[in-house]
Amino acid sequence: MFIEVLLPLRLSRPFTYRISNDGICLQRGQRVIVPFGKRKRYTGIVWKVSAEAPAYETKEIEGVFEDEPLITEVQLKFWEWLAKHYMSYLGEVMRTAMVSGLLIEDANTEANSAESPSEKMFKRAQPKTEVWVELIDQKLAEQCIKEAKAAKQVQVLQCFFQLSSHLEPVAWIRLHQLSKATTSVRRALVQKGIIGLVERPIERLKAIASEGRPFELTLAQQNALQSIENAFDQQKPVIFKGVTGSGKTEVYMKLIERALSSSGQVLFLLPEIALTEALTLRINARFPEKVLAYNSGLNKAQRVEAWYKVLKQDSSVQIVVGSRSALFLPFTNLKLIVVDEEHDTSFKQSDPAPRYHARDSAIYLGQLCKASVILGSATPSVESYFNALAVVGREAKYASATLEVRYAEALATQIELVDLRAEYKRKRMDGFFSQTLLLQLDETLQRGEQALFFQNRRGFATLISCQSCGSVKQCRSCDVGLTYHKNESVLRCHYCGFQEPFLSKCVDCGSNELHEQGLGTEQVEWYLKERFPDRSVVRVDSDSGSSLLKRRKALKEFEGQKHHILVGTQMISKGIDFKNIGLIGVVQVDQLLYRADYRAQEQAYQMLLQVAGRGGRHSDKPAKMVLQTYDPDNRVLKQLIEGRDHDFYSNELEERKQFFYPPYSRMIRIQFRAKSESVVWEGASWFAKALKQIEGIEVLGNDSPVISKIRNQHYQQILIKYPKQLSVHHLKATIFRIQKSFEGIGHFQSIRLAYHVDHI
Ligand code: ADP
Ligand code: ZN
Ligand code: ZN
Repeated sequence: MFIEVLLPLRLSRPFTYRISNDGICLQRGQRVIVPFGKRKRYTGIVWKVSAEAPAYETKEIEGVFEDEPLITEVQLKFWEWLAKHYMSYLGEVMRTAMVSGLLIEDANTEANSAESPSEKMFKRAQPKTEVWVELIDQKLAEQCIKEAKAAKQVQVLQCFFQLSSHLEPVAWIRLHQLSKATTSVRRALVQKGIIGLVERPIERLKAIASEGRPFELTLAQQNALQSIENAFDQQKPVIFKGVTGSGKTEVYMKLIERALSSSGQVLFLLPEIALTEALTLRINARFPEKVLAYNSGLNKAQRVEAWYKVLKQDSSVQIVVGSRSALFLPFTNLKLIVVDEEHDTSFKQSDPAPRYHARDSAIYLGQLCKASVILGSATPSVESYFNALAVVGREAKYASATLEVRYAEALATQIELVDLRAEYKRKRMDGFFSQTLLLQLDETLQRGEQALFFQNRRGFATLISCQSCGSVKQCRSCDVGLTYHKNESVLRCHYCGFQEPFLSKCVDCGSNELHEQGLGTEQVEWYLKERFPDRSVVRVDSDSGSSLLKRRKALKEFEGQKHHILVGTQMISKGIDFKNIGLIGVVQVDQLLYRADYRAQEQAYQMLLQVAGRGGRHSDKPAKMVLQTYDPDNRVLKQLIEGRDHDFYSNELEERKQFFYPPYSRMIRIQFRAKSESVVWEGASWFAKALKQIEGIEVLGNDSPVISKIRNQHYQQILIKYPKQLSVHHLKATIFRIQKSFEGIGHFQSIRLAYHVDHI
């Protein structure tokens, strides 16, 4: 008999194996041990039972891990879709989708141990257990304590009663910690028949304890809830657009309640793991002992445990809060998927393959599981906005719900512009700061309120050049300038991490007239510290002390009003609930708007509104946001300050339509990478030429990307635009055929290819 087995490797198809033992009966989704190549053994997943005999010599499967499938049918279908849609190998999807603790491998075939390699793999797959103590005879126990002959045994029993309020079993490790008793004391108690020992799998996921009270929804929230539930009943995904602080999370709570009431599972996706903690606490307060934070805080064993618990629908993990990888857990009764901050680009995995978008994948997973899907954001992506629009001749693909006011009449932040050209002309500038902004800052601080400065670049200056010879300090292995970090006095590459000490003299000509260009967070911090010496200024970006713990501490302190001014990158734009912010300053807004990317304006708009959302949540007057710009007539900035949200989206859509960008088309970016600049260029040109033969698509490039060299690897790229109605399946198959010929050309062997479907 033959079966097809999926392996976690870059293979386009499952591999066929032989089963000689008729007694073995396998199901799709089961985990097996198979040999592959000369010396390796992998964990494989049964893809197809009763397969045809292949043309190649088959090997025997060596073992079966569990009697039941570990991967559900839904998951297998989901994997297949991911591989097809994102042009990656099924095996790559498997590797990403399964927690590493379940992917046991063995490369060691040295026959020096009695156990065969597959026996060893099998052992490693068994859950680790620990000893628990259970009470067998209460009367005997009480007698033993009363007699008080064996002091150590008495001690153990007393501790047992202390730990076990309902006489339930207690983990030996806890009993040991309290009583300090040895295992020989334990053995004596077992021999007397007072206690017994049981082995239990070690539980590593900790329950969170807390309690909270449910709120009454406001009328606006109730209306939103109603339209969401209506859409759910029609099996439509919902775009939920609600300004920051409008109470979207409260509405989610109700939806979660509805899913739980029918014993369903809930998946709550967030763009960044940093956000999961606060939300988990909030959900747990409402639904105690039901929520799992599936984030980087979990180790390998905990992930395996989470996997099994989700598979078994354990109520302690009925609600999973996580970043994109939580999509891959084996839900068997998923009723609701919430994708919060759906516009966030971190939902897209850029490396390694599969380069999937968690939001889009969630929609597909929802269809597969018949789960309701809600995509929430204060600033939906243009694509989602479009999907919720009814166009002539077409019903809207998604339903929509909105919340337009903040909860409890918290006022929206007022946004205003400072025209830097005018300020320069009137000599009202101090470095990068205008008098207008400084005055507002002064007033804010006088009122006892805090201020936030948003700057999207780290470091002090983003470029150092020599005034006399013109040389720019460049990274040796990347095609980028080095960023000057003044606090540490180093020049650092933000792409490869290379750094060198900062010398105040030019290495090339010896001149000491070095010019600093490009503003980073550190410089904003330096300036503000100098300007307001008796105020406390704190900076939060991925440099500042760089540990997550330190950053969190700084944010906590700021929340607790210990600091007056916070300077940071986009890290400060989300999640954190600041209460007393009167002013938000953006010293250079223009650099956000002018990037060579059709999404630049959208992303700037979203970012600025997210940051604006941090302002004055609990104050009776609105917070202010001041944007310094050289281009006060910019359309996006104008729409932002005038709050013309619908205009922004419709203009954005018009431009996309005119230039045939998504959502009016689809795109694939093909990336080429190699050590040799000329080889990578030749390869990409060859590929582009071949693509240009395909009818009905637009091929842009090959071109160098904005950064064309990173870590001594040269890059080229090709963009493909194609109409939505084109058969994607067909197109992808054609591209793969081209890839095949490409790989057949010896000269191009050193080139690495990557497909970024729906690239960001
Ligand atoms: P969003 O998720 O849209 O940013 P939140 O759900 O965080 O908004 O709500 C903002 C604040 O208002 C939170 O502190 C929340 O507890 C509070 N809030 C929202 N709706 C209600 C309500 N109906 N009753 C009581 N408090 C609410
Ligand atoms: Zn010089
Ligand atoms: Zn570098």
